[in-house]
Amino acid sequence: MHLARFPRARFAHLPTPLEPLPRLGAALSVDLWVKRDDCTGLAGGGNKTRKLEFLLGEALDQGADTLITQGAVQSNHVRQTVAAAARFGLRCEVILEERTGSKAADYLGSGNVLLDRLLGASPRFVAADTDMNAAMEETAGAVRQAGGTPYIIPGGGSNPVGALGYADCARELVVQADAQGLRIDRLVTATGSAGTQAGLVAGMALTGADIPILGIGVRAPKAKQEENVFKLACQTADLLGQPGRIEREMVVADCSFVGAGYGLIDQAVIDALTLTARTEGLLLDPVYSGKAMKGLIALAKQGQFRGETVVFLHTGGAQGLFGYHSELEPALV
Ligand SMILES: *Cc1c(COP(=O)(O)O)cnc(C)c1O
Repeated sequence: MHLARFPRARFAHLPTPLEPLPRLGAALSVDLWVKRDDCTGLAGGGNKTRKLEFLLGEALDQGADTLITQGAVQSNHVRQTVAAAARFGLRCEVILEERTGSKAADYLGSGNVLLDRLLGASPRFVAADTDMNAAMEETAGAVRQAGGTPYIIPGGGSNPVGALGYADCARELVVQADAQGLRIDRLVTATGSAGTQAGLVAGMALTGADIPILGIGVRAPKAKQEENVFKLACQTADLLGQPGRIEREMVVADCSFVGAGYGLIDQAVIDALTLTARTEGLLLDPVYSGKAMKGLIALAKQGQFRGETVVFLHTGGAQGLFGYHSELEPALV
């Protein structure tokens, strides 16, 4: 794969660090490391920043003046997209879905929502189960009518162009591990709109590194999530000029840690947040990386990673913690 063939705007802080987690690893009896994609540098960072380098590259190439995107109310993707728009002097139209049904003032106004506003967006809130793609098309029509040139970024930045960012992350991780003499047996990541895992799968396959990737689902059931990741990984390999290189067995997701639903936290998520914070001084988020760590902890306790060196991809999102203030504070004893 040759990523320089694709237009790219450069703003991420790369490479992100690859660090040991000795105290958390000892608590779980796993040789545990973390890839710090919470440190990608754009207005708090997170995994959407890598995708946005390629998405912005294409948007600027096409002469767009307005980005349009969508997400759940506490979307980290939306925050990073609004920040990228600000950085390139573009307008940004944002649609937020009240997906979790939470009416808490901190959920609707603090955390990522406050940052969206600080970064210049005026989000439009819509009800759960709104057709978000139709809503973005409608907004794009209005932008065109007003003489603008819109560029639609799908939820999570998850299309083949965005996934290029994680094909690159796979390459970056393998280069780092080789330089450090670190043999990686498994990479664990949260998986939602699928672009992160799909890009990683494509990158691992096309570089020949073949490090197994375990996605921990945050929303969809296993069959649906694996289908979404596989489809997007295949499309990403196609875009890279390497069709037919992705095998179905390369895509594994464990979706048994979703709990009550997307964006809904439970005691095991809070335990994962506190254990990680108190053993390593590392902040996870309530919706994605905290849920992925809930899964990693449970699987480690079952002995699933015995004898393995495991890298946890920290996809960011700690800014969303403040949207969950009223739920988290009483639990922090
Ligand atoms: C979006 C997001 C994810 C999930 O990544 P996808 O590419 O949507 O699967 C994981 N962690 C955080 C913090 C996110 O914001």
